[in-house]
Amino acid sequence: MATRPTPVAKKRGSARRSLRSLGTIAVVAGLVAAVGIPAYGALSLPEDAKTIQEVAEAGAQSLIVASEVETEGLQRDSYAATTPEEIEKKKAAEAAAARAKMVGSTASVNVDLSLVGPGTGPARWPLAALTRIGDGFMSRGGAHYGVDLIAPGGTPIFAATDGVVRISQESYYGYGVAIVIDGVINGQKVSTLYSHMTYGTRTVGVGAQVQAGQVIGLVGQTGRAFGNHLHFETKINGSLVDGLGFLRANGG
Ligand SMILES: [Zn+2]
Repeated sequence: MATRPTPVAKKRGSARRSLRSLGTIAVVAGLVAAVGIPAYGALSLPEDAKTIQEVAEAGAQSLIVASEVETEGLQRDSYAATTPEEIEKKKAAEAAAARAKMVGSTASVNVDLSLVGPGTGPARWPLAALTRIGDGFMSRGGAHYGVDLIAPGGTPIFAATDGVVRISQESYYGYGVAIVIDGVINGQKVSTLYSHMTYGTRTVGVGAQVQAGQVIGLVGQTGRAFGNHLHFETKINGSLVDGLGFLRANGG
Protein backbone atom coordinates (compact mmCIF):
# COMPACT_ATOMS: atom_id res chain seq x y z
CA MET A 1 0.00 0.00 0.00
CA ALA A 2 0.97 3.59 -0.45
CA THR A 3 1.39 4.08 3.27
CA ARG A 4 4.12 1.51 3.46
CA PRO A 5 7.64 2.99 3.54
CA THR A 6 9.12 2.83 0.12
CA PRO A 7 12.85 2.36 -0.12
CA VAL A 8 14.25 4.53 -2.81
CA ALA A 9 17.70 3.74 -4.03
CA LYS A 10 19.83 6.84 -4.03
CA LYS A 11 22.49 5.24 -6.08
CA ARG A 12 21.74 3.30 -9.16
CA GLY A 13 24.82 1.20 -8.56
CA SER A 14 23.71 -0.10 -5.21
CA ALA A 15 20.26 -0.86 -6.53
CA ARG A 16 21.75 -2.84 -9.35
CA ARG A 17 23.99 -4.82 -7.07
CA SER A 18 21.17 -5.80 -4.75
CA LEU A 19 19.09 -6.50 -7.79
CA ARG A 20 21.67 -8.88 -9.20
CA SER A 21 22.23 -10.75 -6.01
CA LEU A 22 18.56 -11.06 -5.33
CA GLY A 23 17.84 -12.05 -8.87
CA THR A 24 19.45 -15.42 -8.41
CA ILE A 25 17.71 -16.33 -5.20
CA ALA A 26 14.42 -14.49 -5.26
CA VAL A 27 11.54 -16.74 -4.43
CA VAL A 28 8.14 -15.18 -4.47
CA ALA A 29 5.93 -18.08 -3.59
CA GLY A 30 2.37 -17.06 -3.34
CA LEU A 31 2.95 -13.42 -4.12
CA VAL A 32 2.86 -13.63 -7.84
CA ALA A 33 0.27 -15.62 -9.67
CA ALA A 34 1.82 -18.62 -11.31
CA VAL A 35 -0.20 -18.34 -14.43
CA GLY A 36 0.84 -18.08 -18.01
CA ILE A 37 -0.01 -14.89 -19.76
CA PRO A 38 0.18 -14.80 -23.54
CA ALA A 39 2.64 -12.33 -24.96
CA TYR A 40 0.98 -9.17 -26.05
CA GLY A 41 0.09 -9.09 -29.67
CA ALA A 42 -0.14 -6.41 -32.28
CA LEU A 43 -3.77 -5.84 -31.49
CA SER A 44 -5.45 -2.60 -32.25
CA LEU A 45 -7.87 -2.08 -29.42
CA PRO A 46 -10.29 0.67 -28.46
CA GLU A 47 -8.88 3.79 -26.92
CA ASP A 48 -10.14 4.12 -23.40
CA ALA A 49 -7.35 5.94 -21.66
CA LYS A 50 -8.19 8.66 -19.22
CA THR A 51 -6.72 12.10 -19.08
CA ILE A 52 -5.15 13.24 -15.83
CA GLN A 53 -8.25 15.34 -15.25
CA GLU A 54 -10.47 12.31 -15.69
CA VAL A 55 -8.33 10.33 -13.30
CA ALA A 56 -8.66 13.13 -10.77
CA GLU A 57 -12.42 13.12 -11.24
CA ALA A 58 -12.48 9.36 -10.82
CA GLY A 59 -10.55 9.84 -7.60
CA ALA A 60 -13.12 12.33 -6.37
CA GLN A 61 -15.96 10.02 -7.28
CA SER A 62 -14.28 7.17 -5.52
CA LEU A 63 -14.60 9.06 -2.25
CA ILE A 64 -18.22 8.03 -2.34
CA VAL A 65 -17.36 4.53 -3.43
CA ALA A 66 -14.88 4.24 -0.62
CA SER A 67 -17.37 5.18 2.08
CA GLU A 68 -19.82 2.65 0.70
CA VAL A 69 -17.17 0.00 0.61
CA GLU A 70 -16.12 0.68 4.16
CA THR A 71 -19.65 0.52 5.51
CA GLU A 72 -19.91 -2.89 3.92
CA GLY A 73 -16.99 -3.94 6.06
CA LEU A 74 -14.75 -4.98 3.21
CA GLN A 75 -11.48 -6.21 4.64
CA ARG A 76 -8.33 -5.47 2.75
CA ASP A 77 -6.47 -8.50 1.49
CA SER A 78 -9.31 -10.85 2.28
CA TYR A 79 -10.78 -12.24 -0.84
CA ALA A 80 -13.87 -14.18 -0.03
CA ALA A 81 -14.80 -14.03 -3.68
CA THR A 82 -14.26 -17.13 -5.70
CA THR A 83 -14.71 -16.18 -9.32
CA PRO A 84 -12.19 -14.05 -11.23
CA GLU A 85 -14.93 -11.50 -11.83
CA GLU A 86 -15.66 -11.17 -8.12
CA ILE A 87 -11.97 -10.90 -7.32
CA GLU A 88 -11.56 -8.19 -9.96
CA LYS A 89 -14.53 -6.34 -8.53
CA LYS A 90 -13.11 -6.43 -5.03
CA LYS A 91 -9.71 -5.33 -6.27
CA ALA A 92 -11.33 -2.41 -8.10
CA ALA A 93 -13.20 -1.42 -4.95
CA GLU A 94 -10.02 -1.56 -2.92
CA ALA A 95 -8.12 0.48 -5.47
CA ALA A 96 -10.88 3.08 -5.44
CA ALA A 97 -10.80 3.17 -1.66
CA ALA A 98 -7.03 3.59 -1.70
CA ARG A 99 -7.26 6.45 -4.20
CA ALA A 100 -9.99 8.07 -2.19
CA LYS A 101 -7.85 7.97 0.90
CA MET A 102 -4.95 9.56 -0.97
CA VAL A 103 -7.14 12.25 -2.49
CA GLY A 104 -8.85 13.03 0.78
CA SER A 105 -5.79 12.97 2.98
CA THR A 106 -3.66 15.98 3.79
CA ALA A 107 -1.40 13.99 6.07
CA SER A 108 2.12 13.32 4.96
CA VAL A 109 2.27 9.79 3.65
CA ASN A 110 5.36 7.91 2.73
CA VAL A 111 4.87 7.39 -0.97
CA ASP A 112 7.28 7.44 -3.87
CA LEU A 113 6.63 10.76 -5.58
CA SER A 114 9.22 10.35 -8.33
CA LEU A 115 8.10 12.08 -11.48
CA VAL A 116 11.05 11.21 -13.68
CA GLY A 117 12.83 7.90 -14.02
CA PRO A 118 16.51 7.72 -13.18
CA GLY A 119 19.08 7.86 -15.94
CA THR A 120 19.72 9.87 -19.05
CA GLY A 121 20.07 7.32 -21.84
CA PRO A 122 17.61 6.15 -24.48
CA ALA A 123 16.58 3.18 -22.28
CA ARG A 124 15.53 3.57 -18.65
CA TRP A 125 14.65 1.33 -15.75
CA PRO A 126 10.88 1.39 -15.33
CA LEU A 127 11.13 1.64 -11.54
CA ALA A 128 13.31 4.04 -9.56
CA ALA A 129 14.25 1.42 -6.98
CA LEU A 130 14.50 -2.25 -7.79
CA THR A 131 14.61 -4.25 -4.61
CA ARG A 132 13.03 -7.58 -5.47
CA ILE A 133 12.66 -9.60 -8.61
CA GLY A 134 10.00 -12.27 -8.91
CA ASP A 135 9.52 -14.69 -11.76
CA GLY A 136 11.93 -14.15 -14.64
CA PHE A 137 11.76 -14.38 -18.38
CA MET A 138 10.60 -17.80 -19.61
CA SER A 139 10.01 -19.06 -16.07
CA ARG A 140 6.94 -21.15 -15.30
CA GLY A 141 7.96 -23.69 -17.87
CA GLY A 142 8.45 -21.08 -20.56
CA ALA A 143 5.01 -19.58 -20.06
CA HIS A 144 6.18 -16.34 -18.47
CA TYR A 145 7.26 -13.82 -21.08
CA GLY A 146 8.20 -10.97 -18.82
CA VAL A 147 10.11 -10.24 -15.66
CA ASP A 148 8.26 -9.45 -12.45
CA LEU A 149 9.67 -6.42 -10.66
CA ILE A 150 8.19 -6.33 -7.19
CA ALA A 151 7.35 -2.96 -5.70
CA PRO A 152 4.70 -1.50 -3.41
CA GLY A 153 1.37 -0.58 -4.93
CA GLY A 154 1.41 3.03 -6.07
CA THR A 155 5.08 3.06 -7.06
CA PRO A 156 5.57 5.19 -10.20
CA ILE A 157 6.26 3.32 -13.44
CA PHE A 158 8.44 5.02 -16.05
CA ALA A 159 8.49 4.54 -19.80
CA ALA A 160 11.59 2.50 -20.65
CA THR A 161 12.03 4.20 -24.01
CA ASP A 162 10.79 7.10 -26.06
CA GLY A 163 8.00 5.96 -28.28
CA VAL A 164 4.35 5.85 -29.20
CA VAL A 165 1.70 4.20 -27.05
CA ARG A 166 0.17 1.28 -28.94
CA ILE A 167 -1.97 -0.20 -26.17
CA SER A 168 -3.39 1.55 -23.11
CA GLN A 169 -6.23 -0.24 -21.37
CA GLU A 170 -7.81 -0.68 -17.96
CA SER A 171 -8.35 -4.37 -18.65
CA TYR A 172 -6.00 -5.96 -21.16
CA TYR A 173 -6.62 -9.68 -20.77
CA GLY A 174 -4.70 -11.17 -17.84
CA TYR A 175 -2.40 -8.17 -17.82
CA GLY A 176 -5.02 -6.02 -16.16
CA VAL A 177 -4.24 -2.33 -16.50
CA ALA A 178 -1.58 -2.28 -19.19
CA ILE A 179 0.38 -0.08 -21.55
CA VAL A 180 2.54 -1.02 -24.55
CA ILE A 181 5.02 1.47 -25.99
CA ASP A 182 6.69 1.10 -29.38
CA GLY A 183 10.05 2.81 -29.58
CA VAL A 184 13.18 2.76 -31.71
CA ILE A 185 16.71 2.61 -30.33
CA ASN A 186 19.63 2.71 -32.73
CA GLY A 187 17.36 1.62 -35.52
CA GLN A 188 16.00 -1.36 -33.60
CA LYS A 189 12.30 -1.49 -32.82
CA VAL A 190 11.84 -1.92 -29.08
CA SER A 191 8.38 -2.61 -27.69
CA THR A 192 7.83 -2.62 -23.95
CA LEU A 193 4.79 -3.74 -21.98
CA TYR A 194 3.87 -2.63 -18.47
CA SER A 195 1.06 -4.48 -16.72
CA HIS A 196 -0.91 -5.12 -13.53
CA MET A 197 -0.91 -1.36 -12.93
CA THR A 198 -3.34 0.24 -10.48
CA TYR A 199 -6.75 1.10 -11.85
CA GLY A 200 -7.17 4.68 -12.98
CA THR A 201 -3.48 5.55 -12.98
CA ARG A 202 -2.58 5.44 -16.67
CA THR A 203 -1.37 8.85 -17.79
CA VAL A 204 -1.15 8.17 -21.53
CA GLY A 205 -3.55 6.90 -24.15
CA VAL A 206 -3.13 5.14 -27.48
CA GLY A 207 -1.17 7.25 -29.95
CA ALA A 208 0.47 9.40 -27.30
CA GLN A 209 4.14 10.21 -27.76
CA VAL A 210 6.06 9.43 -24.59
CA GLN A 211 9.59 10.09 -23.46
CA ALA A 212 11.88 7.65 -21.69
CA GLY A 213 11.59 8.20 -17.96
CA GLN A 214 8.09 9.67 -18.14
CA VAL A 215 5.59 8.42 -15.56
CA ILE A 216 2.97 6.30 -17.31
CA GLY A 217 1.13 4.79 -14.32
CA LEU A 218 1.49 3.20 -10.91
CA VAL A 219 2.35 -0.32 -9.78
CA GLY A 220 -0.64 -2.44 -8.84
CA GLN A 221 -1.99 -5.97 -8.97
CA THR A 222 -4.75 -5.84 -11.54
CA GLY A 223 -5.43 -8.74 -13.87
CA ARG A 224 -3.98 -12.14 -13.09
CA ALA A 225 -1.64 -10.98 -10.37
CA PHE A 226 -1.67 -11.60 -6.67
CA GLY A 227 0.63 -9.12 -5.02
CA ASN A 228 1.84 -5.78 -6.28
CA HIS A 229 4.46 -5.91 -9.00
CA LEU A 230 5.33 -4.67 -12.46
CA HIS A 231 5.25 -7.40 -15.10
CA PHE A 232 7.58 -6.00 -17.78
CA GLU A 233 7.93 -7.52 -21.23
CA THR A 234 10.26 -6.52 -24.02
CA LYS A 235 10.32 -7.27 -27.73
CA ILE A 236 13.15 -6.30 -30.04
CA ASN A 237 12.17 -6.22 -33.70
CA GLY A 238 9.12 -8.25 -32.81
CA SER A 239 10.91 -11.02 -30.91
CA LEU A 240 10.43 -11.51 -27.18
CA VAL A 241 13.62 -10.97 -25.21
CA ASP A 242 14.50 -11.01 -21.54
CA GLY A 243 13.26 -7.66 -20.26
CA LEU A 244 15.66 -7.74 -17.33
CA GLY A 245 18.59 -8.47 -19.62
CA PHE A 246 17.51 -5.63 -21.87
CA LEU A 247 17.41 -3.25 -18.91
CA ARG A 248 20.75 -4.41 -17.54
CA ALA A 249 22.38 -3.97 -20.94
CA ASN A 250 20.80 -0.64 -21.81
CA GLY A 251 19.06 0.96 -18.87
CA GLY A 252 20.54 3.98 -17.22
ZN1 LIG B 1 4.80 -11.65 -14.65
